[in-house]
Amino acid sequence: MAVSEVHNYPCPSCGADLLFEPRDGFLTCPYCGHKEAVAQSEADVTEQSFEQQLRTQPADMTTLAANALEVQCQSCGAKSIFTPPEVAGRCEFCGVQIVTQPKSADPIVTPRGLLPFSVTQQTASAGLRQWLSSLWFAPNGLKRFAEPEAIHGIYIPFWTYDTSTTTYYTGQRGEYYYETETYYETDSKGNRVQRTRQVRHTRWYDASGTVHGAFDDVLIAATLSLPSHRLADLEPWDLDQLKPYNPAFLSGFKAQRYQVDLAEGFERAKQVIAPTIESDVRADIGGDEQQIDSLETNYRDVTFKHLLLPVYAGAYRYNGKLFQILVNGRTGEIQGDRPYSFWKIALLVVTILVVILILVLVFGNNS
Ligand SMILES: [Zn+2]
Ligand SMILES: [Zn+2]
Repeated sequence: MAVSEVHNYPCPSCGADLLFEPRDGFLTCPYCGHKEAVAQSEADVTEQSFEQQLRTQPADMTTLAANALEVQCQSCGAKSIFTPPEVAGRCEFCGVQIVTQPKSADPIVTPRGLLPFSVTQQTASAGLRQWLSSLWFAPNGLKRFAEPEAIHGIYIPFWTYDTSTTTYYTGQRGEYYYETETYYETDSKGNRVQRTRQVRHTRWYDASGTVHGAFDDVLIAATLSLPSHRLADLEPWDLDQLKPYNPAFLSGFKAQRYQVDLAEGFERAKQVIAPTIESDVRADIGGDEQQIDSLETNYRDVTFKHLLLPVYAGAYRYNGKLFQILVNGRTGEIQGDRPYSFWKIALLVVTILVVILILVLVFGNNS
C-alpha cells in the first residue's frame, strides 16, 4: 500500500479522515461531524535520562505517526512532518510554495508530550485580521495576510531540561569602608576654608566556595526557523496542561522537525541557567561587590523531554524582506514583524507640510 493510502483515523460513518478539532479536543469528521475522543494514556508526561538517550541513540526514536510524511522547504530548509490528508502547501517559515515531493518521515526523538491546539484556525485568522487593521502605515500588500490560508497550524519542537548543579568558584569579596578626607575650598567671600568629606574605598578579600542549584523544565526552542525573541514573546505556555504525545493530535496539523538536537539543546540550556548560577555565586561571596575569577559547574541528574507546542505561523515577503507572523495556538496571542509602507508615510509627511505651508501663507499674510 502506498504511504498516501494509509488512513490513521478513518471516520467509522463515512470513511473520511478525522481531524483534530481545537474547539473541543475531539477527533472530528469534517464531512459528517462524527466525533471521537483522543485516547489518553494515564501516564504523566515524564522526563527521560539525557545521558542514556545520548548513549543509546537512536534507541528511543520514532516517526510521529505510522503514515507520517516529511517535506523539506527548498528555500529555507525547514522540515515539516504531517499526515494525510494534510498536504505540504506553503512553507510556514518563509512563505514559499513547497514543490518538493514528500517522503516517509525519518524517525526523531520521541515526543513526550504536547499542548494540543485550543485556538481554531478561524479564531487565529480573525485575530490576525484585527491585528493587521490596527497597524498604522502598513503596506496594502499585508492584506493578503487577512486570508484564512495565510497562517497554518504547526507544532514547534522544544526541549525541556531538568538538572541539579554544583558550582565551585573562586573570586573576591569587596567590602566598602569610608575615610574622612580633608580638603580646602574657597567660599563666597573669597576665604580659604578647610572642609572634610567621607570617601568610599573598597577592600578586597579572596573568596571561594560551592553553590548548589536545581533547575526544572528549562524550555529551549529546537527550531532555527523562528527568531528566539519572537518565541519568547509567545510565552508563557501552560506547560502544566501537557498531554502525553499521541499522533491523533497531529491530524490536520503539521509538526516541524527539530533543528537543534538534544545535545546542542542542553548547551543552550546551560546558557539560560548561567545567570542564575552567577547570581547565586555572588550571593555566596557576599560583601558589597563581587569579582568572579573562576566557575566550574557539574551538571547531575540531567533529564529532558521533547515537547511540541502549537503555533499558527505564516510568512510573507515585502520589498525582498521576510516577515513572519506567529499566533499562540493556546492563547491566540499574536506576535509578528510588520513592515512600514514608505509611500503611506511619505504621503502623510507631504500632507502635513502642505497644511503647514497653507497656514503660513494664510496667517503669515494677515500679520
Ligand atoms: Zn464522517
Ligand atoms: Zn521555507
